[in-house]
Amino acid sequence: MIDFTFTEEQEMFRKAAREFAENQVAPRVAEMEAAGKVSEAVVRALAEAEMMALTVPEPFGGLGLGYTARMIALEEISRISVATAMMLQVFALGIEPILKFGSEAQKQKYLPDLASGKRLATTAVTEATGGSDPTGIRTSYRKDGDDYIINGRKCFITNSHIADTLTILAKDENDPKAFSAFILEKGMPGFKATHEENKVGMRGCNTGELAFEDVRVSKEQLLFTEGKGLRVTMAAIGDVGRGGMVGCALGVQAACLEASVKFSRERILYGKPISQLPTIQSKLAEMKIDLEAGRLLAYRACAIQDKGQPSSNEFAVAKYFTTEAAQKAAKMAVDIHGGYGCMQEYAVSRYLRDAFVLGPSAGTSDIMKVIIARWVLS
Ligand SMILES: Cc1cc2nc3c(=O)[nH]c(=O)nc-3n(C[C@H](O)[C@H](O)[C@H](O)COP(=O)(O)OP(=O)(O)OC[C@H]3O[C@@H](n4cnc5c(N)ncnc54)[C@H](O)[C@@H]3O)c2cc1C
Repeated sequence: MIDFTFTEEQEMFRKAAREFAENQVAPRVAEMEAAGKVSEAVVRALAEAEMMALTVPEPFGGLGLGYTARMIALEEISRISVATAMMLQVFALGIEPILKFGSEAQKQKYLPDLASGKRLATTAVTEATGGSDPTGIRTSYRKDGDDYIINGRKCFITNSHIADTLTILAKDENDPKAFSAFILEKGMPGFKATHEENKVGMRGCNTGELAFEDVRVSKEQLLFTEGKGLRVTMAAIGDVGRGGMVGCALGVQAACLEASVKFSRERILYGKPISQLPTIQSKLAEMKIDLEAGRLLAYRACAIQDKGQPSSNEFAVAKYFTTEAAQKAAKMAVDIHGGYGCMQEYAVSRYLRDAFVLGPSAGTSDIMKVIIARWVLS
């Protein structure tokens, strides 16, 4: 039997996540927007609320609550600040390769400090020559005795300047078809975070470039098997990366609908609230339909993921639908607000900017369609 209801624990967790977002994140949104980076106080609060521990199993210091809980947390945090949710989503993407492909020693070494939020994480794949096509990357490694030497640059990396532990993808200098994943640590000689992007939306999280100049790592830093790095990073992006973007998109959709309902009830035209106008009601109904449909797609994919089954195709459908729906909802919300929607004082103008930044991360809508078409044709 299919059960479409959340458990009592999940409902309690949603309530706690909502309170956390409203009390700890909302007061700092304006500061983060202006600074163009995440607030240290918000990162500390996320760690104290154990938001970094959700997907980490208990033996490694985590809560082991799984991916449905993570989706709930991201949805609630994104409803207040999609940038904060993005920081948290890519944090989980950063630890996933260690969780799924790390050796016991790597898990023991990294996961407890990551789960507690003592260290922050990211995954860095994208480069100027390799976004939708990760095989186009130029960051390379070569063997030197038992060590590897890494050279190259990454761009558009979330948490670039705050991450302490990073999973990166590199190409064998002597075999352009072989890719390997490595765990790097902040402070390794030759490794630095360089340029920080000035994004139009999701301003309250850091996105930037990383540079590797003769970074020497021991074989203990190699993740999984040499030459199998694409599998490591693509598996994490397919399930956890896409899933995280779905959570971010759902929060934006919910925020747009709530703001639109409130404004349309308060705005009086022709002697009555604009919520009584059929065109406004039609927009509100469309937003609600998309939000409900998006939630079904999202939580179905999470249920599959929590059973340990492959979920990347289901997340491709959910990512396409919810990120497109978030952009549509944000445009409708701005429209409903009339001229006020174009003013910074109204959050809907931020939702519009944020919604458009949801698109490329973890794969564009075009790429989701390529994946979905491959799925139906296979
Ligand atoms: C805010 C933000 C945060 C990000 N965070 C990270 C991160 O933490 N780590 C990380 O590694 N990366 C990150 N990225 C990078 C993101 O994964 C890439 O931007 C994305 O994969 C697209 O790559 P690209 O930007 O190079 O675009 P391109 O690949 O150059 O795409 C350009 C256009 O071509 C289209 N296109 C490409 N291939 C096809 C195809 N086969 N069929 C049809 N159309 C196609 C695309 O849809 C797009 O419209 C982030 C990006 C953003 C914007």
